[in-house]
Amino acid sequence: MAIATAPGDVTAGAASASGRPMRLSVLGATGSIGASTLDLVGRCPDRFEVVALTAQCNTERLAELAVRHSAKLAVIGEEAHYSELKDRLAGTSVRVAAGAAAVEAAALEPTDCVMAAIVGAAGLRPTFAAARQGCRVALANKECLVSAGEIFLAEILQNGGELIPVDSEHSAAFQAIGRTAARSIEKIILTASGGPFRTFDKERLARVRPEEALKHPNWSMGAKVSIDSATLMNKGLELIEAYHLFPVEAHQLEAIVHPQSVVHCLVMLEDGSVMAQMSHPDMRTPIALALAWPERMTTPVSRLDLVNLKSLSFEAPDLDRFPALGLAIAALRQGGTAPAVLNAANEIAVKAFLDRRIGFLEIANIVGACLEKADAQGLLNGVDTLDDVLAIDGEARSMARLMLPP
Ligand code: NAD
Ligand code: MG
Repeated sequence: MAIATAPGDVTAGAASASGRPMRLSVLGATGSIGASTLDLVGRCPDRFEVVALTAQCNTERLAELAVRHSAKLAVIGEEAHYSELKDRLAGTSVRVAAGAAAVEAAALEPTDCVMAAIVGAAGLRPTFAAARQGCRVALANKECLVSAGEIFLAEILQNGGELIPVDSEHSAAFQAIGRTAARSIEKIILTASGGPFRTFDKERLARVRPEEALKHPNWSMGAKVSIDSATLMNKGLELIEAYHLFPVEAHQLEAIVHPQSVVHCLVMLEDGSVMAQMSHPDMRTPIALALAWPERMTTPVSRLDLVNLKSLSFEAPDLDRFPALGLAIAALRQGGTAPAVLNAANEIAVKAFLDRRIGFLEIANIVGACLEKADAQGLLNGVDTLDDVLAIDGEARSMARLMLPP
């Protein structure tokens, strides 16, 4: 079931239309998306007023960003870092807070837009808080839609807010669909670069190390999403995101491998047209769209040089070598809490891979085993509240941890 019928339905108005600076909070300010967002903000300071910035443990970077952007509030997730942050911001007018509840409260600071860029299910409560204040939510955190899609969209709609996707493929679909009627959309095709191991056979995949997986050929991203791109789980999570964002059924969503990462999404229409959005692979383009919509803003992103690009190629994903994508598609079709279990188990498995506790191919094995176990225990039925989602998320994490080597 899809909730939004057109971008206009979840994007009720333009927060920036009044002409005054847009008040902006950034959750996950020290991460890759946070850095790209604040890079754009720093280039046109008159256009934005920074309200709250949050991070989990990097007090040095958080304090530096808070001072540079004259933030009103800086929040560090790890409570143990409170005094360190306070010391770093002594003598400034930046308010300081710490702890998970303070991160959530930061998302409720009155603002026009919250960039939701915390990685993982840890971003759920703060992003829900942003939805509750009824502002624009620029959504980078994909786990909100994956684990709690319907509940999250209901929260946005009930509070009169707007949701603009930041994930490049969804930003592309959002633009390509425009005001096209839902009934005219035949298919939405998300592109995947194929990651650094696109051409590897299984034997080679079994031996890849975290540092190789972190070297994405086209995009510069945080560790978790880089590993997900290498397993193709990222594309699976994005298919689930797309299901919630756009008016299509699961069978109308496809993933295709496109190694150049220039075309981000293709929307096939009933008259045979294919609408695509293209740009250099740099997250500042979709971030700029989410901040400026329905206007545009200038970015320093490299312009496409089509002649030098020479060719754009597309190939079918190989679900045998990259089974994580197949697991995500199955979870999308199964519905209920299957996507939440998939996501939670994957977060544990990716962390274990980064910590060199398991091999690359074991990531999908653990996710698959968790889904089977959760299904056998009757845990995959739908739930109605965020607390229920987080309870299932916790159970799936415990299950996945038990599958790790000692
Ligand atoms: P990142 O790891 O670079 O940054 C994550 C941010 O979240 C950091 O500021 C960190 O301090 C904060 N954080 C981590 N754990 C936290 C916790 N428990 N509580 C509060 N804050 C916490 O991640 P990223 O690559 O910027 O990705 C952020 C989100 O955007 C992810 O959901 C990712 O899937 C999504 N996304 C990223 C990209 C990209 O290009 N990086 C593209 C599309 C979508
Ligand atoms: Mg993406």
